[in-house]
Amino acid sequence: MALDEQGDVSRYSAVGAIYQFSQDHPDFGFELGMFANFGDKYYGNLFTGTWWYVAEGWEQALAQTIVWGIEHHVYPYNHTYQHPHLNQLADAQIQPQLAKNDAALRDYLAMAGHPEYAALISNYVALPYGIAPATDKGWQLLTTYADPEGKPVRAIFEAGYEYQPAYASPSFSANFDPLHLPRMAALPSVIQLITKTAPTFPLAQHCALTIHSANPDDDAIISAIQAQISSGSCQPGVYILEQGIFIARDSVFRFVSKY
Ligand SMILES: [Zn+2]
Repeated sequence: MALDEQGDVSRYSAVGAIYQFSQDHPDFGFELGMFANFGDKYYGNLFTGTWWYVAEGWEQALAQTIVWGIEHHVYPYNHTYQHPHLNQLADAQIQPQLAKNDAALRDYLAMAGHPEYAALISNYVALPYGIAPATDKGWQLLTTYADPEGKPVRAIFEAGYEYQPAYASPSFSANFDPLHLPRMAALPSVIQLITKTAPTFPLAQHCALTIHSANPDDDAIISAIQAQISSGSCQPGVYILEQGIFIARDSVFRFVSKY
């Protein structure tokens, strides 16, 4: 991810390419999670037309890039400070690997004049190489880590490739486990696999509900869903509304969660 001379996302960066796609196809949306290691590499801020090189001012450039991201729903999350194999790391190093990365991110936010953005970032961790700590103690240290604002770990992302694909379950599914979330590398081989398997995944359908209230409560929404299903205008299923997620299946109607 990089910014151009105008301070917009560079169309030559991966994030810029996705951003452009979302501008051309607004229904695609634009919200990205970036898992960063701040302790194992520099940041290339000088674009020569083919590649980015590290030049003077790279830390300030990185800070501004992170801030542009947060202001456009590109959120930086924790990938540890130096990308270690967590199964080879001493227990005493596990939390420091997360804490140092969080501290570095907050230093960059302060450098760009937006220390308050730290409050907007959830405590999500992606395992380097998809490898978890080897012992129960290590796993416990990982999952009980709190960020500098005191937020506990809410999600742990694993890693996968086309030869062992794993797809994320929706948050309302019984298989959803926030501490074991599949994550696939965006390699050409994985993109090929996704392109090939895409038609096997169900597509979202749209269904309009009639609700006679500007501020409907859960019961009013459930009745509206029920009415549409009995009239045959809408199908049973999972209803994702502004007010939350509702399940209407096998004659059971329930409210699941707010966002
Ligand atoms: Zn990695």
